[in-house]
Amino acid sequence: MIYRIVCAWCGKDIGEKEFPGSNNTDEIITHSICEGCKANTLAEIELLKKGDEYER
Ligand SMILES: [Zn+2]
Repeated sequence: MIYRIVCAWCGKDIGEKEFPGSNNTDEIITHSICEGCKANTLAEIELLKKGDEYER
């Protein structure tokens, strides 16, 4: 059984994981976040935090 890991944000193919012990060769798509989107998301959170500080 193969798990294909795809970025939930941009759809980028991050990689795949094979789980031995199963004869099922169907691909299962699982979602994660790629390095680029992780950095973008963290940057956005930091901006939001800063925005909150400016409003006070
Ligand atoms: Zn991504």
